[in-house]
Amino acid sequence: MQELFERIREEYRSHFPEADASFVERVRPVVQKAYAGQKRLSGEPYLTHALNVALTVARMGLGQETLMAAWFHDAPADGAWRQELGDLWTPTVKRLVENLNRLRSIRPQSMTPEEHEGYRRMVLAVGADLRAVLVRVADRLDNMRTLSVLSPAEQQRLALEARHVFAPLANRLGLQSVKSELENLAFSVLEPEAYARLDAEVREFERSRAHYVEEVVAVLKKRLAEMDIPAVVYGRPKHLYSIHLKMQDGGKQLEDIHDLIGFRILVDTPAQCYGALGLVHSLFKPVEGRFKDYIAVPKPNGYQSLHTTVLGPRSRRVEIQIRTHHMHEIAEKGVAAHWFYKERRQKTRYADGAALAQVDLHASDDAFWSLEQYQTEVFVFTPQGRLVVLPIGSCPVDFAFMVHSAVGMHCVGARVNGQMVPLRTQLRTMDTVEILTSAGQWPKADWLKFVVTSKARGKIRSYLNQVERERLRLRGRELLEKEFKRRKISLSRFLREEHLPAVLEELKVQSLEDLLLALGEEKITLEKVLAFVEPVAGQGGHETEKREERPKAQPRRISGPPIEIDGLRNVLVKLALCCHPVPGEEIVGFVTRAQGVSVHRQDCPRVAQLEPGRLVQARWILDAQLGEPVRLRVVTADRPGILAQLSEVFAQQGVNIRKITTEVLRNGRTAIHFHFTASKVQQEILVRNLKRVKGVHSASR
Ligand code: MN
Repeated sequence: MQELFERIREEYRSHFPEADASFVERVRPVVQKAYAGQKRLSGEPYLTHALNVALTVARMGLGQETLMAAWFHDAPADGAWRQELGDLWTPTVKRLVENLNRLRSIRPQSMTPEEHEGYRRMVLAVGADLRAVLVRVADRLDNMRTLSVLSPAEQQRLALEARHVFAPLANRLGLQSVKSELENLAFSVLEPEAYARLDAEVREFERSRAHYVEEVVAVLKKRLAEMDIPAVVYGRPKHLYSIHLKMQDGGKQLEDIHDLIGFRILVDTPAQCYGALGLVHSLFKPVEGRFKDYIAVPKPNGYQSLHTTVLGPRSRRVEIQIRTHHMHEIAEKGVAAHWFYKERRQKTRYADGAALAQVDLHASDDAFWSLEQYQTEVFVFTPQGRLVVLPIGSCPVDFAFMVHSAVGMHCVGARVNGQMVPLRTQLRTMDTVEILTSAGQWPKADWLKFVVTSKARGKIRSYLNQVERERLRLRGRELLEKEFKRRKISLSRFLREEHLPAVLEELKVQSLEDLLLALGEEKITLEKVLAFVEPVAGQGGHETEKREERPKAQPRRISGPPIEIDGLRNVLVKLALCCHPVPGEEIVGFVTRAQGVSVHRQDCPRVAQLEPGRLVQARWILDAQLGEPVRLRVVTADRPGILAQLSEVFAQQGVNIRKITTEVLRNGRTAIHFHFTASKVQQEILVRNLKRVKGVHSASR
């Protein structure tokens, strides 16, 4: 214990030589008291864990307040120890410890690959302060180092999190060695056989190459000294997991991975980096396409270095990284190093300031560490534990639409963390949200006042527009009806006449529905329509007869079958293929996941198998103008071709037959039943014309 405290103080001193390190002594008895009696699963005192986390944090070059947070991150909140800290327990320390407590409650039970990035952003958002996130990374690193005492399931969980959340975070924060260690530890848990095999192979490989490494290091050192470039040269440690990935990627053998023999040259200035590079390339032939200048073009996380692969002695491929000590420190300590240099900016020469350019040196401490840019999202969960990322201010309706459009369209209520809440409630990170749906529910206009996602907004708007268009269409029809009545003209005749398509074309509308809508919206005036009607009305009822030679009347365009769902029109409706319901039959709707409502016959055997909660009322719209569902019974002599002739009669009237059934009668005759929708007048014409077909004995309803 004593030794760990010493090492923490040494690390702190090496980073802050002029600062007062006496707080380490002051804190020591309090840390011991805070964890008194607590043991880890391994039987070790809990204190060891807290000290190891603090040591990692000290190595990152972080200051006093972050060390305080590391020491006390797992201490019981209600302990009496806090009073004894006095002024060491600053508001920042308190906040960091609170953030760490929140971070600890993120425990993904399973993560899909799509959720990995969401979880990373969640750690940054919940941590709220980079220092809390860095302590959390150090915390997880120590957990991974002491994993063996946990149950296999818990080991798997922590290893998966280390691989998919913490290692990428460490990389983003520029902590190269922490990233590598987390990846190697996770590798050993998740793929133990592959790890053990590769570990043994690499050890053997290194043993056989040991003299080779010495030889190259010696040559490089000698020539650098001759050129007056002071440099540290060493064989680079191996990152097993990255070798594993490379081997998997190209199906390669260990020998094929050229940078397995890696070297590093550390010098003082960027100019010396390029000098050393020239020397390396003059000693050994560079491999084409393997040189990378991350000094001129740093990686997004600030990493700077020169990388080159050359043919070393006896033509073996070796990779060499060249960088300054400062660049090396930033590569190892990441963002913390930026802060460290910021703290000592008066005393530090910025020979290689490029990486620092992205850091605002004038920002206050808290602003420097703040992760405010990640506070724009809330991170919530489905009852199954799936992570859903939403913009800040989102409510359960946003959540519902994000989970699935159908859930959003029918949401009636929400439970957040088990409690019923209003739909307008703002969600907070870590909430578990459950949406209650009802098939009879549809989006409401006032939802627009509180939803924030464009997805929810768009879906609600388009639904409301659809409803509004239907309302305007009805209004258009009413206007027309009233005016026709006043002038004593038959509206049904106007709507049924074959010249309607010509009228529509003249008025530049696509369909009767569009005409009614345009009337309702007052985009087309009644007068304009009536201008076409007067002459038609004047010519009386002969029009139909005269135009019979026309090839085929245009059937009216109705979007979808005329069916009302739960009292609403213009719902996306599909007739079920299993029972083919026809107008007039008793029907029932089923809300599908993606394709609107599918309509079945009430007595369809499939209905019994459907989820009862998603069944909705469905009703045929029996509208006088649209016509009504009819069944005509036509008794015919059983002669070939007669069905085609009869169908032709329907086609001439522009009537679509929905269904045909036949019945063989005793006297060699056949009764054919036609199911279709038509107005009264159309029915009369049909009956008359059907009777004229040769071989027809009778036609009746
Ligand atoms: Mn811990």
